[in-house]
Amino acid sequence: MFPTPAGRKTFEVTCKQCRRDVPSGVKEFPFQSITVECRLCGEMRRYLPSEVFLGRPDQLVVHQRRAGVR
Ligand SMILES: [Zn+2]
Repeated sequence: MFPTPAGRKTFEVTCKQCRRDVPSGVKEFPFQSITVECRLCGEMRRYLPSEVFLGRPDQLVVHQRRAGVR
């Protein structure tokens, strides 16, 4: 786990399972596909660079403390 300071943009992907924006975990823009585990639903997927964008994680990710959030 790594902290995501509020207001700071990070590279995100849109989870293909729950469709929320979750941190990709990469520090720099990836030039090849990366594997990201969704912090909300636990879905592990490969994402293409074209699916990575700069943004902020979904509110649920920021407040994710409770397990089992749908
Ligand atoms: Zn998900």
